Amino acid sequence: MLNQDIKSGLFGSIGENMVAFELAKRNWFVYRPYFDTRIDFIAQKFVCKKCFSDWESKHIVSCSDKNCKNFLKDLNQKDYLKTRKCLDCGYIFNKYTTEHDCPKCDTKMTSNLITTSGQRNYQFTCNFCKHSFSSQTRSCVKCGSNNCVEYPVCKICGSEIKPRNTKCQNPGCDSIDYALIIRTIQVKSSHEEEGGKIGFNFKLQDLIDDERHFLVVYSRTFEDYKEKHNFWVMSVDEFNNEMLSESASKLIYQNARLHPPTNKSQSFFNEIEYNKCTFDLEKARKRKEINKIIEIEKQLQKVDVFAKLNRFIKGDF
Ligand SMILES: [Zn+2]
Ligand SMILES: [Zn+2]
Ligand SMILES: [Zn+2]
Ligand SMILES: [Zn+2]
Repeated sequence: MLNQDIKSGLFGSIGENMVAFELAKRNWFVYRPYFDTRIDFIAQKFVCKKCFSDWESKHIVSCSDKNCKNFLKDLNQKDYLKTRKCLDCGYIFNKYTTEHDCPKCDTKMTSNLITTSGQRNYQFTCNFCKHSFSSQTRSCVKCGSNNCVEYPVCKICGSEIKPRNTKCQNPGCDSIDYALIIRTIQVKSSHEEEGGKIGFNFKLQDLIDDERHFLVVYSRTFEDYKEKHNFWVMSVDEFNNEMLSESASKLIYQNARLHPPTNKSQSFFNEIEYNKCTFDLEKARKRKEINKIIEIEKQLQKVDVFAKLNRFIKGDF
């Protein structure tokens, strides 16, 4: 037991910050309400409407072909070619290659480097129809139109590279629809008391009766001098069932002291097991190992004390 290093007044806000940090690690945005003492913070997250996985709300550029390895992959400039496309005839001209087929008759063209100052510039000449153009041309090399735009294409498959602003984190999911879900959180911080018990003050009137509301009891313990952070996460229903059955009458109109059962597995946060899962999950996502991802996500549901915030709740959408 080591309680003297933090004053009890401060400990409450430390608990809130610890919980907020744990939620931030799980892709929740955390806000503090200005004028509500019952809610310590509000957590919001983007999720996929189809599979309820986390949804990445950042912009990426990726290949637009669903069958390509680069589909939905955040690409760097080295992964795509900058080309030009004619909006009138649809011809795509790659000025960065020295090999070109004649846009008029499909014969292989001969290229000659015509200047080395600044950028490389090649003169292409068709061996068959004598059609010629330079690689620095701004107009269409096929029809001569000036109605041309930059057109980045995938190095693997040649399909167009397009910006996408969002995607489902589950690589097996092709959903384009997401939702913003919300949870309200009330944090109770508890020092370890005599006999390893934890306890917190609670007033029933403070409890918000909503499926999206969660109570988190934070406590800090020491095992062989190693600091441990414990989070006991309860939905309002779980709180009612597990905590209020005997003491409901005591809790009305007074500030009562509650002691969550220490032997309950929910109170223990196995940080090592949780971190192992998240590291493995990241690896599996990079490799797009869908079965492995499903398996680890199932495991996380058991290991992660905060996973219950992530389950679909009626009011979500
Ligand atoms: Zn999805
Ligand atoms: Zn030709
Ligand atoms: Zn053209
Ligand atoms: Zn591609």
